[in-house]
Amino acid sequence: MKIAIDLDDVISSTLARVIPFYNERTNSNTKREDYTDYDWTKIWGCSKEEMLKIWNEFAKSKNYEEILPIKDAIPSVLSLMEKNEITIMTARSRDIKNETLNWLKKYFQEKEIDLIFTGEFGKVDGIKKSKAEICNKLRIPLIIEDNGEYSLQCAEEGIKVILFDALHNRSASHENITRVSGWEEAMPLINKMQENQ
Ligand SMILES: [Mg+2]
Repeated sequence: MKIAIDLDDVISSTLARVIPFYNERTNSNTKREDYTDYDWTKIWGCSKEEMLKIWNEFAKSKNYEEILPIKDAIPSVLSLMEKNEITIMTARSRDIKNETLNWLKKYFQEKEIDLIFTGEFGKVDGIKKSKAEICNKLRIPLIIEDNGEYSLQCAEEGIKVILFDALHNRSASHENITRVSGWEEAMPLINKMQENQ
C-alpha cells in the first residue's frame, strides 16, 4: 500500500525544539500549551515573513540537528517500509532540503527515502501544491499527519487520514479521519487497512 507520512511532529519532534529556540531568540516565554494553532504567527503575534525568518534560522542552526524523533516513529516507519511504498511528505520548502535529508539520514541511515516537499509551510507565496493534490495524483490512499487543515483537505478528497492528536488540530473531524495518540495506536490501524486492501 502507498502511504504518505508527514515529517514534523509525526516522525520528528519538531515543536518541542522550536519552542525553546523561539523563546531564547525573542526573549519570550511561550509554552507547549500556547500552541493551539498550527499557524505560529497567531502564537508569536508576528507576520508570516517574520515567522518564516525565525523558522529558517532554526532550521539552519544546531537546534535543528538536535530534534529527536517522536516516540516509536523510527521503528514504526522502518517496519512500514518493509511492505509498503512510503513517501515522507513535508510542507517544508526545499530551502532546507539538505538539513532535512541530514536529519533523516541520521535516523534512517542508508535507507532510500522518497521525500516530497510541498512548500505549503515554507513560502510566503510561490507555487505550492497541497498534500491532498499530491496524494490524489500519486494515488496514495492513506496519509499520517498532524496538521488539521491538511488532514481535512485530504479527508474531503477521500484519502484516509490517521491524525496524530495535538492541541492545534482538535477541531479537525471527518469520517475519513481517525485520531490517534501516537505510533503505538497508529500501527494496528495501518496493519488493518493493509489487510482490507
Ligand atoms: Mg506535521
